[in-house]
Amino acid sequence: MHAERLHAWLYRHGRRDLSALPELPRPLAGLLAQRVSPSLPEVIRQQISVDGTCKYLLRLEDGEQVETVVIPAGGRTTQCISTQAGCALGCRFCLTATGGLRRNLRRGEMVAQLLTGWQQGGERVRNLVLMGMGEPMHNYDAVADFVRLVTDPAGFAFAPRHVTLSTVGVVPGITRMVDERLPCNLAISLNATTDAVRDRLMPVNRKYPLATLLAAMHRFAETFPKRRMLVAYVLLAGVNDSAADAERLAAMVRDLPCTVNLLPFNPWPGAPWRRPDDGVVSRFRAILSAAGLVAVVREPRGRDIDAACGQLLRRQDGELSKGVCDG
Ligand code: SF4
Repeated sequence: MHAERLHAWLYRHGRRDLSALPELPRPLAGLLAQRVSPSLPEVIRQQISVDGTCKYLLRLEDGEQVETVVIPAGGRTTQCISTQAGCALGCRFCLTATGGLRRNLRRGEMVAQLLTGWQQGGERVRNLVLMGMGEPMHNYDAVADFVRLVTDPAGFAFAPRHVTLSTVGVVPGITRMVDERLPCNLAISLNATTDAVRDRLMPVNRKYPLATLLAAMHRFAETFPKRRMLVAYVLLAGVNDSAADAERLAAMVRDLPCTVNLLPFNPWPGAPWRRPDDGVVSRFRAILSAAGLVAVVREPRGRDIDAACGQLLRRQDGELSKGVCDG
C-alpha cells in the first residue's frame, strides 16, 4: 500500500518531497528521507528554439552527459529520451556515433530525463520517443523496464500508443519486444532501399540486412495489428533520394501499417551529405502517396538551436564540427 502511494506520488504527481507524502507512517517517512534523495540531474546547458523546442544537456551522477529534447505541438508535447551515453553503432550521418559508446543508461536515468522535462517545462508531455542518443535495443532490459514503468496506469500512465521505441534495425531487439508484448510502438530508421546503400550508411545493416529487418517488421505488424509503425527515412541528396528509391521504398513497406516520415538531411558545415532540393523531396513523397502510403515530410524542429542528437554535447565540448544524428 505504501509502495503504491509512493509510486503515485513520484510518478503521477511528479512530487519529490517524500516527507510531505500524506498518510505515510512517520517512521517510514523518516527512513525514506534519510535513505532516498530523489534528486534530478543538473541541467548544464539549455537551448530554446524560436519554434519552442527545448533541448537540455544533463549531467548524471557520475559526470556523464546526455541530452533530452522537449518538442511542443499544441497540447501534444513530445519528449525525446536518450537511452545510452554515446552509441556503438556508427551510423555515418550521426554526430552521436562519432564519440562511440560510453555506457548504457539505467532506467532511473531515463525517468530522470522525463521528470526534468516536466519540471523545466511545467507540464506533462503527451508523447515519448526513445530516439535520443543511443540505440535502445542495445540497452534492452533497462529500456523495456522504462517502457513498462511509464505505461503503468498508477504512475505516469502514458498510453502505449504514445510511447515509441526507435531502432536502426537491431532485429533481436524487435523479436524480444514482440515476444514480450512490450506496450509501445515501433519506429524503424530505414534510410535506404538497397543493402549496398544501407551497408554504407548504417553498418548495422551488414548484420541485419533489409530482408531480415523487413521480416521482423512484418512479425511486429502481425502481432500488433492495431499499432502503426513509423518508418523514418533521412533524404540525402544523390544518395537515397531518386525516383527509383521512392518506388523501391513503396514496394517494401506497402503491406505494412506504417507512416513514412521523410526527413530532408539537416546539414552542418563540412558535412559529406547535402539536403535534396525541395522538388526532389516533393517528388519522393508524391511517389509514396501515389502508392497508397501515408508519407509526411518532417522538417527538423529546433533548427536554430543544436537540436539534432549529439549536437549540444559537442557544442559543450567545443568540438561541433561534424555529424548529425537523424536516426
Ligand atoms: S543514428 Fe542512432 S543508432 Fe545510429 S549511431 Fe546515431 S544514435 Fe546510434
